[in-house]
Amino acid sequence: MARYRGAVCRLCRREGTKLFLKGERCYTGKCAMDRRPFAPGQHGRRRSKMSEYGKQLREKQKAKRIYGILETQFYNYYEAAEGKKGITGDNLIIILETRLDNVVYRAGLGRSRTEARQVVRHNHILVNGKKVNIPSFLVKAGDVITIKEKSLNLQRFKDIIESTGSRTAPEWMDVDLENKQIKVNEIPAREAIDIPVNETLIIELYSK
Ligand code: SF4
Repeated sequence: MARYRGAVCRLCRREGTKLFLKGERCYTGKCAMDRRPFAPGQHGRRRSKMSEYGKQLREKQKAKRIYGILETQFYNYYEAAEGKKGITGDNLIIILETRLDNVVYRAGLGRSRTEARQVVRHNHILVNGKKVNIPSFLVKAGDVITIKEKSLNLQRFKDIIESTGSRTAPEWMDVDLENKQIKVNEIPAREAIDIPVNETLIIELYSK
C-alpha cells in the first residue's frame, strides 16, 4: 500500500503544529516543532496571509497526515461520510477514528499511529478472536481487540507499553494493557474525539 516515506517532522512544520507522528520523540526536546517552529524550505520563515482555500487545503492535509492516509483513500472516506446520516464532518472524523490502527494507537499498543499500523500489518492483532491485518478495518461497538497469544510476550510490546502506560485511553474504549485487550464500548461522538482538526473546512473544500 502506498504511504508517505519522507521526513515526517517536515509535515508538522508544514502544518505549523505538532501532529505527534513519531511517538516518544514528540514529547522530548528533540521535537523539530520545538526547535524549528516554522515551515520547511527556503521561504519557511516568511509569513504570508492565507486564502480561504489555503486554510481549507491545510486542514485537509493536517487530518490526512495525523491519520497517515493518502488522498484517494481520504476522499473515499469523505464520500462514505457524506452517504451516512448526520453531519458529514462529524461522520468523517468518526470513520477515521474507528480505523483499527487508530484504535490500537489510542489504546497504547503503538507509540505512534505508524507503529500501530505496523503492529496490525504484522499479524499481531485479533478482532473478536479472528486475525485482522488490515489497518483500515473499521471497528464496531462491542468489538474486542486482543494480541494473538504467540505475540503476547514479545519484547516489542513490553517496550511499547513502558512508553505508553501513562497515556489515558479515550472513554469510549476499555483498555487492559496488562492483558493487552481493548474493548470498544461504543462508537464515539465527534465531541469525544480529541483531534485538532476543523473538519468543516475540509467539507467546504470537497463541496466546491
Ligand atoms: Fe511532529 Fe513528533 Fe516530529 Fe515533533 S517530533 S515535529 S511532534 S513528528
